[in-house]
Amino acid sequence: THFGFETISEAQKEKKVGAVFSSVASSYDTMNDLMSLGIHRIWKDHFVRSLNPGSTSGQGWNILDVAGGTGDIAFRMLDHATQINGDHSTKVTIADINPDMLAEGKKRALASKYADTGRLDFVQGNAESMPTMPSDSVDLYTVAFGIRNFTNKDAALREAFRVLRPGGVFACLEFSHVNSTLFNAVYKRWSFGAIPLIGQLVAGDRDSYQYLVESIERFPAQEEFRAMIGDAGFLVPGLGYDNLSGGIASIHRGIKP
Ligand code: SAM
Repeated sequence: THFGFETISEAQKEKKVGAVFSSVASSYDTMNDLMSLGIHRIWKDHFVRSLNPGSTSGQGWNILDVAGGTGDIAFRMLDHATQINGDHSTKVTIADINPDMLAEGKKRALASKYADTGRLDFVQGNAESMPTMPSDSVDLYTVAFGIRNFTNKDAALREAFRVLRPGGVFACLEFSHVNSTLFNAVYKRWSFGAIPLIGQLVAGDRDSYQYLVESIERFPAQEEFRAMIGDAGFLVPGLGYDNLSGGIASIHRGIKP
């Protein structure tokens, strides 16, 4: 790979991932829009709608959005809980390993309608070990476009299992694998050709975007990831995943028994 991840240590990999996200933090939204032609917004809206966060009974949910970065998913979940379910007490904790991404999220939170509501919380930490998060305490664990960057995905899944309460839901939105050969050829041309170039031209950073494309390629396909979720102890309902845009992304779910 570009960074030779196969030959460097886990600690070094973590540092590289850190550097990538520090470098992209401020241009993150523009780049997402350009790279996905704006479709990431539709996927994120769909993800949140499908989870229907918040309760109509007045007892808010305790949501943990891991790799929450700049708050894209968290804001959508609070909006959904409030506007669709009339729930003003659901809370979201955004956990992320990268202080620059969290700083960007905090800035947005302060400028949002959720400033001073106590409904948003920020925690810096590694998804693979979150000792400050109590066991059996979370109603919904979300991770969007984050898990493929984790060094030890199985450890992160086990940690998700630990913090969720029984009956709690694990939900992951991630780039996945396209199964149509023809569509895959077009998609690969776009991702390996255009994305690093857009990175270079818009963010002045070709390497970080090259890394992002390669990390998508390395991430396990739908069935394999489904099995990993099952191995962590989750019940996986039905097929276990929904493909979005022909499998460019997919949503996986698991329930803690
Ligand atoms: N969830 C947001 C979204 O959908 O826009 C942000 C996704 S961003 C592509 C990936 C995030 O994962 C970055 O903010 C990065 O810092 C974070 N991340 C990478 N490795 C992590 C780890 N081991 N633990 C927690 N967060 C991590």
